[in-house]
Amino acid sequence: MENKESAKERFLGTFLGAVKDWDMHLAESVNSNVNANPIIKEAMQKMIEEQENHGNAIGLGREVWYSNDYFIHCQILDFISYVKGDQDLGDELKLIYVGKLGNPGLDAEAINMDMESEGYLIKISFEMELNLVLFSNFVSYHLFGMQREDKDQLIKLLLGALETFLLFIDKKELLKKTEEVHPADPKERDQTSIREHIASELFEASMKFLLSHEIGHHFLKHTESKGRNLVSKFIPTDVTSNQLHLDEFAADNFGFDLSIVQGKKENNKTFLLAPLVVILMLALFDKTPEEPSQTHPSLRDRYLNLLSRVTEVNEQIASENQHFFNFVASWINKLIPGYWKTEWWK
Ligand SMILES: [Zn+2]
Repeated sequence: MENKESAKERFLGTFLGAVKDWDMHLAESVNSNVNANPIIKEAMQKMIEEQENHGNAIGLGREVWYSNDYFIHCQILDFISYVKGDQDLGDELKLIYVGKLGNPGLDAEAINMDMESEGYLIKISFEMELNLVLFSNFVSYHLFGMQREDKDQLIKLLLGALETFLLFIDKKELLKKTEEVHPADPKERDQTSIREHIASELFEASMKFLLSHEIGHHFLKHTESKGRNLVSKFIPTDVTSNQLHLDEFAADNFGFDLSIVQGKKENNKTFLLAPLVVILMLALFDKTPEEPSQTHPSLRDRYLNLLSRVTEVNEQIASENQHFFNFVASWINKLIPGYWKTEWWK
């Protein structure tokens, strides 16, 4: 068929509030607001400049074409470079478009294919990304703390972990703080401490896993099934919940393969931790991670499956990461007694 619209055109035409360039849009709206904090304005401008410099350094400029978000666009570029030897897969990846939306809610979805458009559309909410940033930050305090023995520093780290965690579970407070502190403190952002490095690597690895999981839903043809609509959560009678559960494990495995195996990260502890961290983050929004839902297997089973994938590629790191996961999950359950009724990760 001719004149099919691209996934990008479909995104911009379908979703209310969809913008072509997320960061530029934010920068422009901050700039046009006379009351906006000048420090925020400056920080936004700086971010755009940094993206431009980065884009120019890799020879591709600031222009985004795999996503309306520069960072996500770069993740897809990375995936394409991972599969250099496999031209078919590389060509398929070039048909991906990830649209970031300002909608509230933890949302990342591979949108069902339709006859009028081509390419693979994925949408992700700003809040999902924000949660990944904050949770990576929270986890980084613990990761960094494990390498320290200095008591004063440990207390500071513990306070940092506590603060990020409380921010994380209190949405309103979280959004307020992010608006106030995050872009308003460029000095802090510029500081390159080891802990911040861990946090940003963990965020990148988690985002890569999440994106490649959604790409998996497309490439494994879960979005082709007649009428299965991930947006409305409508399940037609020809798709059993058992099949949906299998699809979820398959997408996790695909995500693991693309972001870790193809990316040659089998010896990278942070990358091997990221899929488990994504599950732990999702579990914070799930009172019963040991129970499956109609559409999804239990987070416990997804965790165990991913842990066994980590064990396959690196037994030593798997055991360390399992130990660490237990430590952080227990820490949360002790901080807020009964956050989960069971120690579902054991
Ligand atoms: Zn999924």
